[in-house]
Amino acid sequence: MRVLKFGGTSVGNPQRIAEVGRLISDSTPKIVVLSAMSGTTNDLVTYSEYLYKKDHSGAKVFLESMRQKYYRVSEELFATEELRKQGREMIDTHFDNLDEFNRDMFTQHEEKTVLAKGELISTALMVYHLQELGIASVLLPALNFMRIDKDQEPDNYYIRENLNREIALHPGSTLFITQGFICRNAFGEIDNLKRGGSDYTASIIGAAIDADEIQIWTDIDGFHNNDPRYVKNTARIDDLSFNEAAELAYFGAKILHPTSVRPAQDKNIPVRLKNTMDPDSPGTLITSRVTGSGIKAVAAKDGIVAIRIKSDRMLLAFGFLRKVFEIFESHRTSIDMIATSEVSVSMTIDQVDRLSEIVSDLENYGTVEVIHDQTIICVVGDMIGESRGMAVQALEALRHIPVRMISYGSSNNNISLLIKTSDKIDALNSLSNHLFQAR
Ligand code: ADP
Ligand code: ASP
Ligand code: MG
Repeated sequence: MRVLKFGGTSVGNPQRIAEVGRLISDSTPKIVVLSAMSGTTNDLVTYSEYLYKKDHSGAKVFLESMRQKYYRVSEELFATEELRKQGREMIDTHFDNLDEFNRDMFTQHEEKTVLAKGELISTALMVYHLQELGIASVLLPALNFMRIDKDQEPDNYYIRENLNREIALHPGSTLFITQGFICRNAFGEIDNLKRGGSDYTASIIGAAIDADEIQIWTDIDGFHNNDPRYVKNTARIDDLSFNEAAELAYFGAKILHPTSVRPAQDKNIPVRLKNTMDPDSPGTLITSRVTGSGIKAVAAKDGIVAIRIKSDRMLLAFGFLRKVFEIFESHRTSIDMIATSEVSVSMTIDQVDRLSEIVSDLENYGTVEVIHDQTIICVVGDMIGESRGMAVQALEALRHIPVRMISYGSSNNNISLLIKTSDKIDALNSLSNHLFQAR
């Protein structure tokens, strides 16, 4: 069995939905994971913002314009009056329910239910479309099997048991459709795997059913060696190792959700990135195999805060770092980069909800400086085979840009550099020119 995930642009309009319908309608057994139609989750975030602000009339107008957009999708997607009516009723059920949230009580719990609607609607549209074409498919409701535990981690045992039970209810079926992104939490409430989380759903499902392959279908022909949103002339990478892909995804390559590689890697299931607009292109294959040498790709992660603690007490003291790390642990905040000197430690975090508590705890041990608006540039490749000059090449490319921190040598496949976010586009382009264009 394979898992195929189609992102928001891949199901972004009626033509795209029909194209995905064609791509999945062969007889190879598969579970198809769908995102919401592109723009929908953002629109649901906007709707939630109206509700947080208690702008009831603004919310109503906004929701009705969304509903009209979906009516138009239903009109175009379905050929028969019967399916159009069914589509309209399904859309009304979800939008009437969204309208019920337009009252004074609106918290994060309600927001999660609101954000789940995009995937519930896109999967229903796909199942109706297949039904109209006479292609048998089964809708597997993600809320019946996808669950995170109290630490927000996938509850793999629960997922495996319940997903396999759901599948077993349909012997002989080969085409299953389910929602990406949405799940239940430890309290059974509707929750989600964070923005971009449909990739993570696909990987978790792949691991749960021991899939032969996990395919992530999107709007680009695979993993590129730099961020195509900021750099021209990026090139596709044919093969990546799990470690390389995980590192790039974690450090900002938007094509993959940050933690989506791990479940596949744990089960050694190949992940293939494919382009819905160009299905015959080979894409990128991610496996345990390490191929090629030298620097392969660059990614950037914004929203980083650097924290520096300086203390004379650190000099020749043991246990200092442990105390510092314990503070981060107690605030459930993970550290991305770290650099130490004799009397100071610098660390970066990307989760800032507990920043002021962390800083006040750290101040018990020394002087603390906090630097906002930072970006981590992550350079990935095989740093052993061609170790000579690799760090130099990266730094040479950034010679005109102030680099605040460097992390090199912690793994064999990564150099991380901390720069100001305002220097990011310049840095990515300069790295592209120095590292890739000359090849
Ligand atoms: P989907 O909606 O299918 O999940 P995303 O927008 O989340 O698609 O991811 C695909 C986008 O990721 C591409 O259109 C591209 O702009 C962006 N991207 C960022 N970094 C990379 C990279 N290194 N390689 C390919 N695409 C990248
Ligand atoms: N629809 C969700 C989002 O826009 C999940 C996803 O597309 O991966 O973030
Ligand atoms: Mg995505």
